[in-house]
Amino acid sequence: MKINKLLVANRGEIALRVMRTAREMGIKTVAIFSEADRNALHVRYADEAVCVGPAPSSESYLRGDVIIDVCQKLGVDAIHPGYGFLSENANFARQVREAGLIFIGPSPESIEVMGSKLAAKAAVADYDIPMVPGTPSAIDGSASGRAEAKVISAKIGYPILIKASAGGGGKGMRVVEQEADFDEQMDRAVSEAISSFSDGSVFIEKYVTSPRHVEIQVLGDQHGNIIHLFERECSVQRRHQKVVEEAPSAILTPEIREAMGQAAVGVARACNYYGAGTVEFIVDANLNFYFLEMNTRLQVEHPVTELITGVDLVEQMIYIAEGKALTIRQEDLQIKGHAVEIRVYAEDPANNFLPDVGTLETYVRPQGNGVRVDDGFEQGMAIPIYYDPMIAKLITYGDDRAAAIQKMIRAIDEYQISGVQTTLGFCRFVMNHHAFRSGQFDTGFVSQYFTPEVLATQSNAEENELAAVFAAYLLNNQAAKPSQTQAVGPARSKSQWRTKRLG
Ligand code: ADP
Repeated sequence: MKINKLLVANRGEIALRVMRTAREMGIKTVAIFSEADRNALHVRYADEAVCVGPAPSSESYLRGDVIIDVCQKLGVDAIHPGYGFLSENANFARQVREAGLIFIGPSPESIEVMGSKLAAKAAVADYDIPMVPGTPSAIDGSASGRAEAKVISAKIGYPILIKASAGGGGKGMRVVEQEADFDEQMDRAVSEAISSFSDGSVFIEKYVTSPRHVEIQVLGDQHGNIIHLFERECSVQRRHQKVVEEAPSAILTPEIREAMGQAAVGVARACNYYGAGTVEFIVDANLNFYFLEMNTRLQVEHPVTELITGVDLVEQMIYIAEGKALTIRQEDLQIKGHAVEIRVYAEDPANNFLPDVGTLETYVRPQGNGVRVDDGFEQGMAIPIYYDPMIAKLITYGDDRAAAIQKMIRAIDEYQISGVQTTLGFCRFVMNHHAFRSGQFDTGFVSQYFTPEVLATQSNAEENELAAVFAAYLLNNQAAKPSQTQAVGPARSKSQWRTKRLG
């Protein structure tokens, strides 16, 4: 069925990104918003926009019933959930279907299976997918259950990882270095799992040392065709959450890429997947890879795949939801160039990456060839405290990895943000770091190399450079027009430069 009117059940950059493609496809767009987002850019961009409730997402963006109601009132055919919020909520996907609307994503059944890490492992068991050694089912919290889990852990070998089956966003995950710490970490993991996901089931995985996070983008249609669009590497993380992503990975060989692609297609097939999805793997120092989980939605970092393949993933999602067969065949796809994405968060890297929301007093995006900014803000806007503090995704594209990184450094230098602390300076540090540049890094990058002091050094180097430029400028000016130096010179203090440059 052709989609004529689409509602995005989301906000910010992803709502805009989806609506842009919809508009290109001649589809009318409907935005929803909370009272905190009345003036948001996605609201202004849409053909129609409806307020669905107060600021807290539980009273607005998560109100599936209200959202479906809006669709029926406005004659909407389809809902795109974006990422987060209701995007991986099987009940919502089911309610959408029952209301006679199209959910632009996989079936509720696929979401359900892959929503539980344990159910996902069980579902792919027959598909010859490599998995991290661990417990195949939830650990029973009783004394005998724990004793059994300790026997398995000893066999696997410490360190091990206790993980929440319903986990996401790095929550409910605890590393156990030795058996003596098992019970304490187990209690913590269970209580975090209950408080975050209302589901205390946890299981054990071997803790892979020097792990790299590599994920494969898949697309499947409703006729059983499934393809993969290569990998993204997301190993630079803080709190088990991604901050820098790139495609392709700096370390995969064509053979491993092919094997991972096949494994990802197998995972998708195991749950009769259709739509866009991501199969996440962990890769060890010897380039062995193991299935972690599948995310049944569009990922934040999808643009890097779009840039290296030339495929608009949202457009494909819409075609698939309309019931069309994929027209891209696996053999048509090839990797062209290299793309890097950084997440620009309103966070203070010097203060443990804690959110630092406020008003964007200065906000000037970088521009130019090979630079893409996906954001949802303009200068003067406030970043609401209610939602994820991501300001933007900055993505650069070049012929090869080194070119994409150089472009990223240039783009970071051009990005002017003041009023809040951001991850820009931290990302510049990553881009300049020899471990990142050489491709020899893992998910321990931040704990291994980053301390707040490196930002101070960086700003000093920058200030020195600026001071030197400034001094040269003053000298020149003095020589030419001595009377004007006062007016031009101190008008911009060093601290102003610094705020602008570092954000
Ligand atoms: P979530 O759903 O919470 O994001 P994932 O299973 O995707 O959890 O894991 C998130 C991150 O945690 C991974 O990218 C990796 O950095 C780390 N991680 C997960 N499993 C392991 C493991 N077995 N060994 C080492 N690190 C792991």
